[in-house]
Amino acid sequence: MFNLATRHSPLAKTPSPIGILGGTFDPIHFGHLRLAQELAEGLGLREVRFIPAGRPPHRTQPFALTQQRLEMARLGIVGNPLFTLDEREIFKPTPSYTVETLLDLRRETGAAQPLCLFMGTDAFLGLISWHRWRELFELAHIVVAQRPGFSGLGRAAATMPNDLRDELNRRLTNEPEALSATSAGAVFIQPITALDISATQIREQLAAGQSPRYLLPDAVLDYIQTNGLY
Ligand code: ATP
Repeated sequence: MFNLATRHSPLAKTPSPIGILGGTFDPIHFGHLRLAQELAEGLGLREVRFIPAGRPPHRTQPFALTQQRLEMARLGIVGNPLFTLDEREIFKPTPSYTVETLLDLRRETGAAQPLCLFMGTDAFLGLISWHRWRELFELAHIVVAQRPGFSGLGRAAATMPNDLRDELNRRLTNEPEALSATSAGAVFIQPITALDISATQIREQLAAGQSPRYLLPDAVLDYIQTNGLY
C-alpha cells in the first residue's frame, strides 16, 4: 500500500496537482466542462484528465457506443490546453473501478504527485457504494463541486451514511493549498457556477426532437446529429 498522505517538506518542489474527472460522458456537456475549468483555475491545477468510463459499475450501460463517447469527449475538450483525454478505462472489458484507475495513475505519476479526483455532490453522496471506496482517500484528494439541484454537503450531512460523514469530518479542508502540500487524503468542496445540465436531459431532448443547443459544445452536437445518436 502506498503511503501518500505525507506532508512534503517546504523546500521540496511539489508538482501542482492533476485533476481527474471520470464520467460516462454520454454525451459530454457544459456542466462537465465548466466543472473542470472552474476547479482547475480555483486550485491552480496544471492538467485535468477526462477519463470516460468503460462499463460503469454503478449505473445502466451507456446509450452511445464506446467509440462515440470517446470521440464526443475528444471534441468537447478540443482547444483547451489544460484538458487531456485518458483512454485507460473506456476499452477495458471489465467494469471501470475508480480505485484501479487511481492505482494505475499512482504507478505512473509517483507517490509525490498530488491527484485530485473531481466529482459532483451527487457522486460524493453515493461514494460508499464505490468499490474499495476507503482506498480512494489513500490515492487522491477528493474535490467536490457543489452541483446545482443537490443540497450542500453540510446540509446533506444529516442524511449521509455515518462512515462517509466520519471520513468527511476527518478530511475536510478549507485551504486549497492543502491539496498541493500533500498528495492525497483531503476533501475540498468548491461551489461552481450552477449549470443545471445533465446528459440525461440532453438525450431526452434529442429523443423528443428538441435541440439541446447551448447545453453542450457545437462540435459535440454536430457529431451527435451526423451520427444520429440518441
Ligand atoms: P447522466 O445524466 O447520464 O447520469 P451526467 O450528466 O450526470 O450523466 P456523468 O458523466 O454521469 O454526467 O457525470 C460525471 C461527473 O460530472 C459526476 O461527478 C457528476 O456529478 C458531474 N456532473 C455532471 N453534470 C454536472 C453539472 N451540470 N454540474 C456539475 N457537475 C456535473
